[in-house]
Amino acid sequence: MNGAEIIDGKAYAAGLRARVAAAVPAFRVAAGRAPGLAVVLVGEDPASQVYVRSKHKATVEAGMESFEHRLPATASEMELLDLVERLNADDRVDGILVQLPLPSHIDEKRVIATIDPDKDVDGFHVVNAGRLAVGEAGYVPCTPLGCLMLLKDRLGDLSGLAAVVIGRSNIVGKPMAALLLAENCTVTVAHSRTRDLADVVRRADIVVAAVGRPEMVKGDWIRHGATVIDVGINRVPGAEPGKTRLVGDVAFAEAAAVAGAITPVPGGVGPMTIAVLLRNTLVAAHRRAGVALPEGAIG
Ligand code: NDP
Repeated sequence: MNGAEIIDGKAYAAGLRARVAAAVPAFRVAAGRAPGLAVVLVGEDPASQVYVRSKHKATVEAGMESFEHRLPATASEMELLDLVERLNADDRVDGILVQLPLPSHIDEKRVIATIDPDKDVDGFHVVNAGRLAVGEAGYVPCTPLGCLMLLKDRLGDLSGLAAVVIGRSNIVGKPMAALLLAENCTVTVAHSRTRDLADVVRRADIVVAAVGRPEMVKGDWIRHGATVIDVGINRVPGAEPGKTRLVGDVAFAEAAAVAGAITPVPGGVGPMTIAVLLRNTLVAAHRRAGVALPEGAIG
Protein backbone atom coordinates (compact mmCIF):
# COMPACT_ATOMS: atom_id res chain seq x y z
CA MET A 1 0.00 0.00 0.00
CA ASN A 2 1.53 3.29 -1.11
CA GLY A 3 1.41 5.96 1.55
CA ALA A 4 3.23 8.70 -0.28
CA GLU A 5 1.88 11.56 -2.33
CA ILE A 6 3.20 11.17 -5.87
CA ILE A 7 4.83 14.44 -6.92
CA ASP A 8 3.62 15.14 -10.46
CA GLY A 9 6.63 16.75 -12.14
CA LYS A 10 4.96 16.52 -15.52
CA ALA A 11 2.05 18.70 -14.36
CA TYR A 12 4.34 21.18 -12.54
CA ALA A 13 6.56 21.43 -15.62
CA ALA A 14 3.54 22.05 -17.88
CA GLY A 15 2.43 24.86 -15.55
CA LEU A 16 5.90 26.42 -15.53
CA ARG A 17 6.11 26.24 -19.32
CA ALA A 18 2.70 27.91 -19.58
CA ARG A 19 3.79 30.72 -17.20
CA VAL A 20 6.97 31.26 -19.21
CA ALA A 21 5.00 31.33 -22.48
CA ALA A 22 2.52 33.81 -20.99
CA ALA A 23 5.38 36.21 -20.19
CA VAL A 24 6.84 36.17 -23.72
CA PRO A 25 4.38 38.58 -25.48
CA ALA A 26 5.08 41.39 -22.99
CA PHE A 27 8.82 40.83 -23.46
CA ARG A 28 8.39 41.03 -27.24
CA VAL A 29 6.64 44.39 -26.85
CA ALA A 30 9.22 45.75 -24.40
CA ALA A 31 12.35 44.49 -26.21
CA GLY A 32 11.13 44.45 -29.81
CA ARG A 33 12.15 40.80 -30.22
CA ALA A 34 11.49 37.35 -28.79
CA PRO A 35 13.76 35.66 -26.23
CA GLY A 36 16.23 33.49 -28.16
CA LEU A 37 17.81 30.14 -27.29
CA ALA A 38 20.66 28.68 -29.36
CA VAL A 39 21.25 24.94 -29.10
CA VAL A 40 24.43 23.43 -30.53
CA LEU A 41 24.69 19.74 -31.37
CA VAL A 42 27.96 18.17 -32.47
CA GLY A 43 27.70 14.73 -34.07
CA GLU A 44 24.80 12.31 -34.36
CA ASP A 45 24.43 10.74 -30.90
CA PRO A 46 20.80 9.45 -31.00
CA ALA A 47 19.94 10.43 -27.39
CA SER A 48 21.38 13.94 -27.92
CA GLN A 49 19.36 14.30 -31.13
CA VAL A 50 16.18 13.49 -29.23
CA TYR A 51 17.04 16.03 -26.49
CA VAL A 52 17.84 18.75 -29.02
CA ARG A 53 14.61 18.10 -30.93
CA SER A 54 12.51 18.35 -27.78
CA LYS A 55 14.31 21.51 -26.64
CA HIS A 56 13.66 23.09 -30.05
CA LYS A 57 9.96 22.12 -29.95
CA ALA A 58 9.51 23.42 -26.38
CA THR A 59 11.28 26.70 -27.21
CA VAL A 60 9.05 27.35 -30.22
CA GLU A 61 5.93 26.37 -28.24
CA ALA A 62 6.86 28.96 -25.61
CA GLY A 63 6.92 31.63 -28.33
CA MET A 64 10.70 31.97 -28.21
CA GLU A 65 13.18 32.01 -31.07
CA SER A 66 15.09 28.73 -31.44
CA PHE A 67 18.46 28.77 -33.21
CA GLU A 68 19.69 25.26 -33.94
CA HIS A 69 23.29 24.66 -34.97
CA ARG A 70 24.46 21.21 -36.03
CA LEU A 71 28.10 20.41 -36.61
CA PRO A 72 29.42 17.06 -37.89
CA ALA A 73 31.14 14.70 -35.43
CA THR A 74 34.38 15.52 -37.28
CA ALA A 75 34.12 19.27 -36.51
CA SER A 76 37.24 20.64 -34.84
CA GLU A 77 37.31 22.22 -31.39
CA MET A 78 38.22 25.51 -33.06
CA GLU A 79 35.11 25.40 -35.29
CA LEU A 80 32.93 24.86 -32.24
CA LEU A 81 34.66 27.62 -30.25
CA ASP A 82 34.20 29.99 -33.23
CA LEU A 83 30.49 29.17 -33.31
CA VAL A 84 30.15 29.79 -29.56
CA GLU A 85 31.93 33.15 -29.96
CA ARG A 86 29.52 34.11 -32.76
CA LEU A 87 26.55 33.20 -30.55
CA ASN A 88 28.07 35.21 -27.66
CA ALA A 89 28.15 38.24 -29.98
CA ASP A 90 24.66 37.69 -31.45
CA ASP A 91 22.18 40.02 -29.76
CA ARG A 92 19.19 37.85 -30.69
CA VAL A 93 20.63 35.00 -28.61
CA ASP A 94 19.89 35.14 -24.86
CA GLY A 95 20.79 31.56 -24.00
CA ILE A 96 23.42 29.19 -25.39
CA LEU A 97 23.32 25.47 -24.75
CA VAL A 98 25.96 23.11 -26.09
CA GLN A 99 24.52 19.61 -25.93
CA LEU A 100 26.79 17.22 -24.01
CA PRO A 101 28.55 14.85 -24.35
CA LEU A 102 30.87 16.22 -27.04
CA PRO A 103 33.04 13.99 -29.26
CA SER A 104 36.19 12.92 -27.39
CA HIS A 105 38.57 15.13 -29.43
CA ILE A 106 36.82 18.26 -28.09
CA ASP A 107 37.59 19.62 -24.61
CA GLU A 108 34.18 20.10 -22.94
CA LYS A 109 35.58 22.35 -20.21
CA ARG A 110 37.14 24.69 -22.76
CA VAL A 111 33.88 24.93 -24.71
CA ILE A 112 31.81 25.68 -21.59
CA ALA A 113 34.39 28.25 -20.46
CA THR A 114 33.96 30.05 -23.80
CA ILE A 115 30.19 30.57 -23.35
CA ASP A 116 29.34 34.07 -22.08
CA PRO A 117 28.33 33.38 -18.43
CA ASP A 118 25.36 35.73 -18.91
CA LYS A 119 24.08 33.46 -21.73
CA ASP A 120 24.94 30.22 -19.91
CA VAL A 121 21.36 29.07 -19.32
CA ASP A 122 22.62 25.56 -18.46
CA GLY A 123 24.52 27.06 -15.51
CA PHE A 124 27.64 24.97 -16.18
CA HIS A 125 30.17 27.83 -16.46
CA VAL A 126 32.49 28.16 -13.46
CA VAL A 127 31.38 31.77 -13.06
CA ASN A 128 27.79 30.57 -12.54
CA ALA A 129 28.93 27.77 -10.21
CA GLY A 130 30.78 30.48 -8.23
CA ARG A 131 27.78 32.80 -8.21
CA LEU A 132 25.63 29.97 -6.82
CA ALA A 133 28.26 29.15 -4.19
CA VAL A 134 28.41 32.74 -2.90
CA GLY A 135 24.70 33.51 -3.30
CA GLU A 136 24.83 35.91 -6.25
CA ALA A 137 22.32 35.97 -9.10
CA GLY A 138 23.42 33.81 -12.01
CA TYR A 139 22.19 30.69 -13.79
CA VAL A 140 21.63 27.44 -11.92
CA PRO A 141 21.73 24.05 -13.68
CA CYS A 142 18.22 23.14 -14.80
CA THR A 143 17.78 19.73 -13.16
CA PRO A 144 18.63 20.69 -9.56
CA LEU A 145 16.68 23.96 -9.85
CA GLY A 146 13.70 21.92 -11.05
CA CYS A 147 14.11 19.61 -8.02
CA LEU A 148 14.11 22.63 -5.70
CA MET A 149 10.92 23.96 -7.28
CA LEU A 150 9.17 20.62 -6.70
CA LEU A 151 10.39 20.55 -3.08
CA LYS A 152 9.21 24.08 -2.34
CA ASP A 153 5.88 23.41 -4.03
CA ARG A 154 5.35 20.41 -1.77
CA LEU A 155 6.93 21.60 1.49
CA GLY A 156 6.85 25.41 1.39
CA ASP A 157 9.58 26.69 3.70
CA LEU A 158 12.53 24.25 3.78
CA SER A 159 14.31 26.07 6.61
CA GLY A 160 15.88 23.77 9.22
CA LEU A 161 15.08 20.53 7.37
CA ALA A 162 17.74 17.82 7.13
CA ALA A 163 18.55 17.17 3.47
CA VAL A 164 20.71 14.38 2.09
CA VAL A 165 21.89 14.67 -1.51
CA ILE A 166 23.32 11.42 -2.87
CA GLY A 167 25.74 12.29 -5.68
CA ARG A 168 28.23 15.15 -6.07
CA SER A 169 28.38 15.81 -9.81
CA ASN A 170 28.82 19.38 -11.00
CA ILE A 171 25.52 19.31 -12.87
CA VAL A 172 23.25 17.78 -10.24
CA GLY A 173 24.62 16.92 -6.78
CA LYS A 174 26.78 19.95 -5.98
CA PRO A 175 24.36 22.64 -7.23
CA MET A 176 21.49 20.78 -5.50
CA ALA A 177 23.38 20.93 -2.21
CA ALA A 178 24.13 24.65 -2.69
CA LEU A 179 20.46 25.39 -3.43
CA LEU A 180 19.27 23.50 -0.34
CA LEU A 181 21.86 25.24 1.82
CA ALA A 182 20.62 28.59 0.52
CA GLU A 183 17.12 27.51 1.66
CA ASN A 184 18.57 26.96 5.16
CA CYS A 185 18.48 23.18 5.08
CA THR A 186 21.11 21.23 6.99
CA VAL A 187 22.75 19.54 4.03
CA THR A 188 24.73 16.32 3.81
CA VAL A 189 26.30 15.36 0.49
CA ALA A 190 26.83 11.61 0.13
CA HIS A 191 28.87 9.91 -2.60
CA SER A 192 30.58 6.64 -3.49
CA ARG A 193 32.94 6.84 -0.48
CA THR A 194 30.23 7.61 2.08
CA ARG A 195 30.14 5.09 4.93
CA ASP A 196 26.84 3.68 6.20
CA LEU A 197 24.86 5.42 3.47
CA ALA A 198 21.57 3.85 4.62
CA ASP A 199 22.01 5.38 8.11
CA VAL A 200 22.89 8.77 6.63
CA VAL A 201 19.77 8.72 4.43
CA ARG A 202 17.57 7.63 7.37
CA ARG A 203 18.25 10.98 9.08
CA ALA A 204 16.88 12.99 6.14
CA ASP A 205 13.63 14.92 5.87
CA ILE A 206 14.55 15.45 2.20
CA VAL A 207 16.37 12.86 0.09
CA VAL A 208 17.65 13.76 -3.39
CA ALA A 209 19.07 10.74 -5.21
CA ALA A 210 21.32 11.58 -8.20
CA VAL A 211 23.55 8.55 -8.54
CA GLY A 212 22.80 6.66 -11.75
CA ARG A 213 22.34 3.25 -10.06
CA PRO A 214 18.99 1.57 -10.60
CA GLU A 215 16.86 1.35 -7.43
CA MET A 216 19.87 1.67 -5.13
CA VAL A 217 18.01 3.57 -2.39
CA LYS A 218 15.83 1.06 -0.54
CA GLY A 219 12.55 1.64 1.25
CA ASP A 220 14.02 0.94 4.69
CA TRP A 221 16.57 3.76 4.17
CA ILE A 222 13.75 6.32 4.09
CA ARG A 223 12.53 8.08 7.21
CA HIS A 224 8.76 7.93 7.68
CA GLY A 225 7.18 10.94 5.98
CA ALA A 226 10.35 12.11 4.18
CA THR A 227 10.18 13.79 0.76
CA VAL A 228 12.10 11.84 -1.88
CA ILE A 229 13.29 13.36 -5.15
CA ASP A 230 14.61 10.76 -7.58
CA VAL A 231 16.82 12.28 -10.28
CA GLY A 232 18.10 8.96 -11.63
CA ILE A 233 17.22 7.80 -15.12
CA ASN A 234 18.31 4.20 -15.62
CA ARG A 235 17.33 1.85 -18.42
CA VAL A 236 16.92 -1.76 -17.24
CA PRO A 237 15.61 -4.94 -18.90
CA GLY A 238 11.80 -4.95 -19.10
CA ALA A 239 9.31 -7.74 -18.41
CA GLU A 240 9.27 -8.84 -22.06
CA PRO A 241 12.45 -10.12 -23.71
CA GLY A 242 14.29 -7.42 -25.67
CA LYS A 243 12.24 -4.62 -24.04
CA THR A 244 13.61 -2.08 -21.56
CA ARG A 245 12.02 0.21 -18.99
CA LEU A 246 13.12 3.28 -17.07
CA VAL A 247 13.70 3.22 -13.32
CA GLY A 248 15.14 5.78 -10.94
CA ASP A 249 17.83 5.54 -8.28
CA VAL A 250 15.15 4.80 -5.65
CA ALA A 251 13.26 1.51 -5.24
CA PHE A 252 9.98 3.31 -5.89
CA ALA A 253 7.33 0.96 -4.47
CA GLU A 254 9.25 0.32 -1.22
CA ALA A 255 10.08 3.98 -0.73
CA ALA A 256 6.56 5.16 -1.55
CA ALA A 257 5.24 2.96 1.27
CA VAL A 258 7.11 5.04 3.88
CA ALA A 259 7.81 8.43 2.30
CA GLY A 260 5.50 11.42 2.67
CA ALA A 261 5.98 12.31 -1.00
CA ILE A 262 8.05 10.96 -3.86
CA THR A 263 8.76 11.70 -7.52
CA PRO A 264 8.10 8.86 -9.98
CA VAL A 265 10.42 7.88 -12.84
CA PRO A 266 9.45 8.76 -15.49
CA GLY A 267 7.19 11.77 -14.92
CA GLY A 268 8.94 13.30 -11.90
CA VAL A 269 12.17 15.29 -12.25
CA GLY A 270 12.68 14.52 -15.97
CA PRO A 271 10.06 16.92 -17.41
CA MET A 272 11.32 19.74 -15.16
CA THR A 273 14.67 20.03 -16.93
CA ILE A 274 13.40 21.52 -20.22
CA ALA A 275 10.82 23.68 -18.40
CA VAL A 276 13.59 25.22 -16.27
CA LEU A 277 15.75 25.70 -19.37
CA LEU A 278 12.95 27.85 -20.85
CA ARG A 279 12.61 29.64 -17.52
CA ASN A 280 16.36 30.38 -17.45
CA THR A 281 16.21 31.65 -21.05
CA LEU A 282 13.31 33.96 -20.16
CA VAL A 283 15.31 35.29 -17.19
CA ALA A 284 18.41 35.79 -19.39
CA ALA A 285 16.36 37.67 -22.00
CA HIS A 286 14.92 40.05 -19.38
CA ARG A 287 18.29 40.66 -17.72
CA ARG A 288 20.08 41.26 -21.01
CA ALA A 289 17.35 43.61 -22.29
CA GLY A 290 17.03 45.42 -18.94
CA VAL A 291 13.30 44.55 -18.79
CA ALA A 292 11.71 43.69 -15.41
CA LEU A 293 10.43 40.13 -15.09
CA PRO A 294 6.69 39.84 -14.46
CA GLU A 295 6.00 38.51 -10.97
CA GLY A 296 5.16 34.81 -10.74
CA ALA A 297 6.48 33.92 -14.21
CA ILE A 298 9.48 31.96 -13.13
CA GLY A 299 8.73 30.21 -9.84
P1 NDP B 1 27.43 11.28 -12.25
O1 NDP B 1 27.79 9.92 -12.74
O2 NDP B 1 28.18 12.46 -12.76
O3 NDP B 1 27.51 11.30 -10.65
C1 NDP B 1 27.04 10.23 -9.88
C2 NDP B 1 27.32 10.49 -8.43
O4 NDP B 1 26.83 9.37 -7.70
C3 NDP B 1 28.81 10.63 -8.09
O5 NDP B 1 28.99 11.75 -7.25
C4 NDP B 1 29.14 9.33 -7.40
O6 NDP B 1 30.11 9.44 -6.37
C5 NDP B 1 27.83 8.95 -6.77
N1 NDP B 1 27.76 7.50 -6.57
C6 NDP B 1 28.05 6.50 -7.44
N2 NDP B 1 27.89 5.30 -6.86
C7 NDP B 1 27.49 5.54 -5.59
C8 NDP B 1 27.16 4.70 -4.49
N3 NDP B 1 27.21 3.38 -4.60
N4 NDP B 1 26.78 5.29 -3.36
C9 NDP B 1 26.71 6.63 -3.23
N5 NDP B 1 27.00 7.46 -4.24
C10 NDP B 1 27.40 6.93 -5.40
O7 NDP B 1 25.87 11.40 -12.53
P2 NDP B 1 24.92 12.70 -12.72
O8 NDP B 1 24.94 13.52 -11.50
O9 NDP B 1 25.19 13.32 -14.03
O10 NDP B 1 23.50 11.97 -12.86
C11 NDP B 1 22.97 11.17 -11.82
C12 NDP B 1 21.69 10.50 -12.31
O11 NDP B 1 20.76 11.50 -12.66
C13 NDP B 1 21.86 9.65 -13.57
O12 NDP B 1 20.96 8.55 -13.50
C14 NDP B 1 21.42 10.57 -14.69
O13 NDP B 1 20.91 9.86 -15.81
C15 NDP B 1 20.33 11.33 -14.00
N6 NDP B 1 20.10 12.68 -14.56
C16 NDP B 1 18.80 13.03 -14.81
C17 NDP B 1 18.50 14.26 -15.31
C18 NDP B 1 17.07 14.62 -15.54
O14 NDP B 1 16.75 15.47 -16.32
N7 NDP B 1 16.14 14.02 -14.80
C19 NDP B 1 19.55 15.24 -15.66
C20 NDP B 1 20.87 14.82 -15.24
C21 NDP B 1 21.12 13.56 -14.74
P3 NDP B 1 31.66 9.82 -6.63
O15 NDP B 1 31.65 11.31 -6.87
O16 NDP B 1 32.33 9.44 -5.37
O17 NDP B 1 32.08 9.04 -7.84
